Amino acid sequence: MMKAPVAVTMRRLAKAIDGLDEPAVEKIAKDQQEDPFQVLIATMLSAQTRDTVTAAASARLFRIARTPESMAKLTRARIQRLIYPVSFYRNKAVHVKQTCEQIMTRYAGRVPSTMEDLLTLPGVGRKTANLVLILAHSSQENICVDTHVHRIANRLGWVKTRTPDETEHALYRATQRRWWPIINLYLVTWGQNVCRPLYPLCPQCVLADVCPKIAVTKVGKPVQV
Ligand code: SF4
Repeated sequence: MMKAPVAVTMRRLAKAIDGLDEPAVEKIAKDQQEDPFQVLIATMLSAQTRDTVTAAASARLFRIARTPESMAKLTRARIQRLIYPVSFYRNKAVHVKQTCEQIMTRYAGRVPSTMEDLLTLPGVGRKTANLVLILAHSSQENICVDTHVHRIANRLGWVKTRTPDETEHALYRATQRRWWPIINLYLVTWGQNVCRPLYPLCPQCVLADVCPKIAVTKVGKPVQV
């Protein structure tokens, strides 16, 4: 199977994403000095939600409560109102409250720093756990795979997988360790701007000459990005 060379791809993307909007959770992580709690909550809110909505909902919630202790004291209904209209805001409000309570009772008020412990928190899956480990605990051992990373890694021919979880495990084998912590940032930014789910902008993509464009059938019209 033809595949885009990983190092060439990552070096070109490093230049190409300069100046493009960063994903919401990355921005929040930087603005909050990688505070693990805010990274965790923002990542939970971000699932299947547009970045602008995630950023606004996180800002409203953090204005009222910035620690697990203060957030655990908010009612579920209040959290729900604050985070609306993120997708699944009802479920997310329940999970946010339960997660805060468990951080207080089981982890002495600190966000856990291992995959195993993070996965015990309500509503926290591998994607959220990996992003918290990378952005808040400076892990060099994790790859965070969301739908963008899953889609683009397959288009590039790096993996041939059906689910984000399969992609994560395949990427550990397909890529060198040095790229792991930044694969998410690069591919999510590219996925939001150029390698979009529908009608990717292949004709103007910096990877066009090396990418096998696997399963891409229709491309978008060139526009200014
Ligand atoms: S936009 Fe097209 S050329 Fe660029 S990475 Fe996506 S599939 Fe490959």
